[in-house]
Amino acid sequence: MDAEFFRAWITEIAAVIDAQRDHLTQLDAAIGDADHGTNLARGFTAARAALDGADTPTPGSVLLLTGSTLISKVGGASGPLYGTAFRRAAKALGDKPEVDLSALAEALEAALAGVIKLGAASEGQKTMVDALAPAVAAFGQAIAAGAAAPGALEALTDAADAGAHDTISMQALKGRASYLGPRSVGHEDPGAASAALILHALRDVASRQAA
Ligand code: ADP
Ligand code: MG
Repeated sequence: MDAEFFRAWITEIAAVIDAQRDHLTQLDAAIGDADHGTNLARGFTAARAALDGADTPTPGSVLLLTGSTLISKVGGASGPLYGTAFRRAAKALGDKPEVDLSALAEALEAALAGVIKLGAASEGQKTMVDALAPAVAAFGQAIAAGAAAPGALEALTDAADAGAHDTISMQALKGRASYLGPRSVGHEDPGAASAALILHALRDVASRQAA
């Protein structure tokens, strides 16, 4: 996976977030302030535009510019969190021109660690961590078990989907939704839903390139 692959990932994220903008905003309307879809659509559209106008020769440089753009363009909690995730992934990749599966796994682990460090959320608190953490774990396990890219990425997205779904029964203990207390139960967390979409975009770009 080269810089072009990672630019295609960000382009795919921008498209899928745009297509799901209203859905994400509706999830946020139920337990937050109804801006998650618009926040992320603005952020990833800006990231794509920034990539169009800049020289990003390595995967790390693509993810670094993406993260910095998200931090500067997204006002909500999710901007700094996703921005940090992409910047940490970028740092893990360094200036490698090509990324293999195990380097990608390390980058995703670094991204998750960045989100956890900044947001101080642990699993079970109804945040994006509830989709990201099981996904990153499943991806690493699949690679350790010898899976090739398609199988490992399927494990990644399956675990993200299950993790996002599991947030429905959780009570929010972090972020704006926590102000609702027990009334936050019964709704999917918007950030967990968007995290699953971002990982689906990764899988979809990889399977398109393989075809
Ligand atoms: P805001 O809550 O500021 O309006 P968004 O609506 O864009 O920001 O994002 C809300 C999402 O951010 C939540 O659904 C949750 O997944 C995530 N989030 C909020 N606080 C935290 C945190 N401390 N750690 C991890 N994720 C968080
Ligand atoms: Mg919000």
